[in-house]
Amino acid sequence: MDKGKRRMKGPFENSLKQLAGVRKIIKMDDNIYAQLQSPQRFLEVSIPVRMDNGSIRVFTGYRSQYNDARGPFKGGIRFHTTVSVSEVKALSAWMTWKTAVVDIPLGGAKGGVIVDHKELSDMELERLSRGYIRAIYKIIGPELDIPAPDVYTDPRVMGWMLDEYEKIVGHHAPGVITGKPLSIGGSKVREYSTAQGAVYALMEGAKKIGLKKGSTVAIQGFGNAGSHVASLLQDLGYKITVVSDSTGTVVNSMGMDMKELKNYKEKTGSVANYPGSEEVGEKNCLTQDADILIPAALEGVITEKIARGIKAKMIVELANGPIIPEADEILEKKNILVIPDILANAGGVIVSYFEQIQNAYGYYWQEQEILEKLEEKIKKAFDEIWENKENYGTTLRMGAYALAVKRVSEAMKDRGWG
Ligand code: NAD
Repeated sequence: MDKGKRRMKGPFENSLKQLAGVRKIIKMDDNIYAQLQSPQRFLEVSIPVRMDNGSIRVFTGYRSQYNDARGPFKGGIRFHTTVSVSEVKALSAWMTWKTAVVDIPLGGAKGGVIVDHKELSDMELERLSRGYIRAIYKIIGPELDIPAPDVYTDPRVMGWMLDEYEKIVGHHAPGVITGKPLSIGGSKVREYSTAQGAVYALMEGAKKIGLKKGSTVAIQGFGNAGSHVASLLQDLGYKITVVSDSTGTVVNSMGMDMKELKNYKEKTGSVANYPGSEEVGEKNCLTQDADILIPAALEGVITEKIARGIKAKMIVELANGPIIPEADEILEKKNILVIPDILANAGGVIVSYFEQIQNAYGYYWQEQEILEKLEEKIKKAFDEIWENKENYGTTLRMGAYALAVKRVSEAMKDRGWG
């Protein structure tokens, strides 16, 4: 076997494979397709950070700006040991399709730093966050590229990053970053917006396949996205029977109380061995019995082997890219409805966009108003991609890609890029 064939496929190759799949169902100009094969700009930076013991450690960071034909680049920043060129590029491509599918005037970007945040003290984390901004500030800005939180970054990190950016440019610029604390221009709902958007999409999907509210749910990942979706669904009457994080999977077929589980995780640092549940190991979350499966951790977790073992009737991709393309084919044959990430987790970027509008006007909306606007956006996009799925006789993912890629291509052509 040659080297190329033996090489593991990275997330970026998977994202290009998805793009190639869309090309089979919609007419795409060759000139546009060629440009959509890579980010418009990719920056790699070294970030020297003074550690608490006085030494300097150099971290590697990235920013991938995929496409800005429809508006300024937009995408989160991830702090994780698995951050790689392939991952950041893929996530920036998915952001491009996501902003297009929900029709907000933004492009797609993503950033990341290779780091195990658990090894850093709070002071070191702050210095790293500020160092990352010093390294990339020239290519970001409220009308250029707007970062946000992602895995292991949060409002506190966004606050430090905003402060560093404003110190460099010498004036207030709250619209440069979203997902900020409320006190410095953050938006109500942003904290649970990704999960709330997923709930709206899930309810639309459930209607289509006749799933009732008492249905059982398995969730992989109990961080920002996963824990909020768990609470929101429980409040709506769904039964959360399986929850995992990086340390374990807990199962209780009667359903678990999400408030208690959150308290337990806060105290012990993990969901593993939650009293009254069975512990089945972190790797076995995805194939447990449940009507709805919600991957909410990292990409590439649903491989062909896992797909064969999945028992759920519907999968809601709260994580970005959790299903590899080969597994998608298996799920399609098994008639499992997959609500694709570019719709299912778009709530975060939609409310980020609302945050930017509020920052620009210096006028802040009430929670209910934001929720109504979010629901409207998700429902409209769901209907549009469902129509595409039916018209093209394809999956919901390909229906979503068709809609998004058409919108991006049209903007590129109108700019004379075609
Ligand atoms: P987070 O850091 O808050 O949580 C990640 C969770 O995943 C943690 O509970 C961690 O323990 C768990 N995890 C890590 N490895 C695991 C494993 N092998 N098995 C089970 N669990 C594991 O991150 P988040 O913000 O909740 O993001 C989760 C996913 O949602 C990512 O794919 C992210 O890109 C996507 N997403 C998040 C947002 C957002 O607004 N937070 C928006 C869009 C998409």
